[in-house]
Amino acid sequence: MATLEIECPVCAEVLELTDEDRAELMVGDVIVCDSCHSEMEVTRNGEGEDFDLELLGEMTTCPNCGEEFEVTEDMLAAAPVQVLDGAEVSVVSCPHCRGLVALELVDEGGLD
Ligand SMILES: [Zn+2]
Ligand SMILES: [Zn+2]
Repeated sequence: MATLEIECPVCAEVLELTDEDRAELMVGDVIVCDSCHSEMEVTRNGEGEDFDLELLGEMTTCPNCGEEFEVTEDMLAAAPVQVLDGAEVSVVSCPHCRGLVALELVDEGGLD
């Protein structure tokens, strides 16, 4: 059975997908990395190597410790919103140093 190996874009862990796994996946399904629990959405699932993923959430760099971490939708949903210098920010805590990080909310428009 053919196995497709994909590398997690966050932690570089290799995730193996068998043909059977892929048969059950559809575009829009979400795969979770076993190692770092990042969520990735399937954007292509064709034959052979014709497979693509898009990382959900976004990476941000903690201003306190300099480590990168992923901001998931769950984190944002749980984050309190504050107004800082007239801009709305979400306050999340860094998983590395537990420091608070204010993220400016980006209005991407068209999202509704
Ligand atoms: Zn990972
Ligand atoms: Zn930190």
